[in-house]
Amino acid sequence: PLNPPPVSSDPMVVPDFAPAWAAAYTKAMAMISNFTIEQKVNVTTGVGWANGLCVGNTPSVGDFPGLCLQDSPLGVRDTDLVTSFPAGITVASTWNRALMRARGVAIGQENKMKGINVALGPMMNMGRIAQGGRNWEGFGADPFLTGEAAYETILGLQAGGVQATAKHYINNEQEWKRTQESSNVDDRTEHEIYAHPFLRSVMAGVSSVMCSYNLINDTYACNNNKTLNDMMKREFGFQGFIQSDWSATMNGLSPVAGLDMTMPGDITFDSGTSYFGQNLTNYVMNGTISETRLDDMATRIIAAWYYMHQDENYPNATVDSFNFYDPINQEVNAQSDHYMIVREIGAAGTVLLKNEGALPLNKPKNIVLVGSDAAPPVSGPNEYTDQGGDPSGILAMGWGSGTNNFTYLVSPYEAIQARARVDQSSVFWDFDNWDLSKAGNSVIGMEVAIVFVNSDSGEGYITVDGNAGDRQNLTAWHQGDELILAVAAQNNNTIVVTNSVGPLIIEPWVEHPNVTAIVWANLGGNEAGNAIADILYGAWNPSGKLPYTIAKSPMDYPAQLVTGGTAADILSINYTEGLFIDYRWFDAQNITPRYEFGFGLSYTTFEYSDLAITTINPTADYAQMDLIDNWENGGATPIAEGSSTALWLHMPAYQVTFDVENTGSLYGGEVPQLYLHHSPSAGEPPSVLKGFTNVEVSPGQSASVSITLSRYDLSVWDVVRQGWAKPEGTITFSVGASSRDFRLNGTIPA
Ligand code: BGC
Ligand code: BGC
Repeated sequence: PLNPPPVSSDPMVVPDFAPAWAAAYTKAMAMISNFTIEQKVNVTTGVGWANGLCVGNTPSVGDFPGLCLQDSPLGVRDTDLVTSFPAGITVASTWNRALMRARGVAIGQENKMKGINVALGPMMNMGRIAQGGRNWEGFGADPFLTGEAAYETILGLQAGGVQATAKHYINNEQEWKRTQESSNVDDRTEHEIYAHPFLRSVMAGVSSVMCSYNLINDTYACNNNKTLNDMMKREFGFQGFIQSDWSATMNGLSPVAGLDMTMPGDITFDSGTSYFGQNLTNYVMNGTISETRLDDMATRIIAAWYYMHQDENYPNATVDSFNFYDPINQEVNAQSDHYMIVREIGAAGTVLLKNEGALPLNKPKNIVLVGSDAAPPVSGPNEYTDQGGDPSGILAMGWGSGTNNFTYLVSPYEAIQARARVDQSSVFWDFDNWDLSKAGNSVIGMEVAIVFVNSDSGEGYITVDGNAGDRQNLTAWHQGDELILAVAAQNNNTIVVTNSVGPLIIEPWVEHPNVTAIVWANLGGNEAGNAIADILYGAWNPSGKLPYTIAKSPMDYPAQLVTGGTAADILSINYTEGLFIDYRWFDAQNITPRYEFGFGLSYTTFEYSDLAITTINPTADYAQMDLIDNWENGGATPIAEGSSTALWLHMPAYQVTFDVENTGSLYGGEVPQLYLHHSPSAGEPPSVLKGFTNVEVSPGQSASVSITLSRYDLSVWDVVRQGWAKPEGTITFSVGASSRDFRLNGTIPA
């Protein structure tokens, strides 16, 4: 059973972590008060690559035992007897805050059981380009959805006991030349799109932030005074510590820009040198860096540890990242009953894109499973280190540091066979993608043919089949398109299941009359096969929605992977599309997508009615009322520390209510979405997501739904006045079932 999270799920309650941070700071300051300069420096300096049990480690100093920092965003990496949770992109596709939170809690508990102090997740890059190799670790291509997923994941992880890390800060949107590319982005886009999930992370009380490998506007992220000191620490009021990505510290003056900890400690892996360590001691001794700043660095790191109560009987690390066969790896079984939440999220994170009456399956006489993605991987669930190879079976996560080792992995083949025994169905299969005529022949005369295809990507330190992290194209792997067409040519009930790291171009077959259903199953973790079977057989009525747009052509997307450059070059990547990423671009440019952001079908149907919006009475706190008055009258938020996360700005200000009726014949869940439409003078995209919720309704029944909006939700970033401001003009909104399926329309009261 999951521990109850300590923070309310009530959207009316904005948690305030300030008192907990204040108490932790008092303890941390007391602890470092008798530390020497060298000791304080040691708190901030990792012990070096592969010199500890975790992927990152800090030494013990005085009464501080040091920290064990471990990947990944989907479970504890480099060990055994842990759960492989569905990837970030899958939980984002649930659009379900309770599931996001529950997954976080379970991952947090496994980290604590293995003695990890700091979990290196969640990852909240924005999916600016569809090819981005690590997009699957994150939560899709919309800042609001990503922000909610980050917020819930962090609340969950930290409720489970581990410190969470919001990464990678910021604009780390492609793998190619990730350490040699400058993401050039304007201030408004930075605030409204890329920084928003990090702001939500701070609001969730996150302990740590990881600065990224790339440069932002020509300055490296871990040496970037604007993004670290000014945005993260001053505007957002972040109280925890900023750690570098692995070897992303670029020089010894980074502490001045706001960096608090260097990871893994050495300049390059195994170099035995560090930009912190002795260098930092020297800089403090000679006055280049003030001792006050060093105190602040050490205080933040130790405060985060107190803040999470890790001083109270926290377990010692029982992972050994660099020696998998060390018996220490087998000491603690952390799995508990987490397979249940994996399976539920796998199903709830599956998006039904097309269904011409083919699903749910109803005791079919016979079924043929086609494609290697239906099968268990040939050489076991962990065929490749960090899953970094061409998948020979089901794809249930991408590759890189954002992975872990499967303890076990259920493929569709196993799950469907188990169900076939109950239904007394015949099951046949052909897992060979390369013999198309054999695949076609195998489905002739069969009641159902299910074709499984996938598409993989990952972190750039591993290249798989020519994909250097990022995807070279948006086509299904292993000639998936040809395989689907070969099957559809012979069978008029061809169901396609995809396991993909991101969008695919599905034009070759999407409208084929024999393709009767498309199940977008994302990356399901170790229960992937069971979750897919739950959808196919209707044990779970699909409720997932796309967290990105599926385009008709790769060139329809607003931005592309930038490649090339010589070894010495710094690539310039100009975010010229600004606020117009993903659906915001398609809407503004009038480009028809294949399946729009937010889209997903159910086995039942829903109708929306009775829209109302009411103003929520503001606080009785006079200081806050002044700020609210100022905002209402067109003033921007003052530039005080923490102004972007100020409670008054984020308190619910409007309540939108409506009814959702289940007009079909099956119990099911719906995800009503709220999009704002600003007046053209505001310079915003036509529709911007600012609310969603989940309802589950029985046939013939109606549920009343409530979505709240804060003043922040209505604001734009005012570049001139450097604050959050209410844009001029009337703001209207729509409520509906996707970014293009609006059912109700209203106006925000003036
Ligand atoms: C990745 C991080 C990861 C770190 C430690 C880096 O290469 O970018 O996401 O946490 O390594 O493995
Ligand atoms: C490690 C990862 C790390 C990466 C950084 C790999 O060798 O396994 O943990 O993220 O190097 O480039």
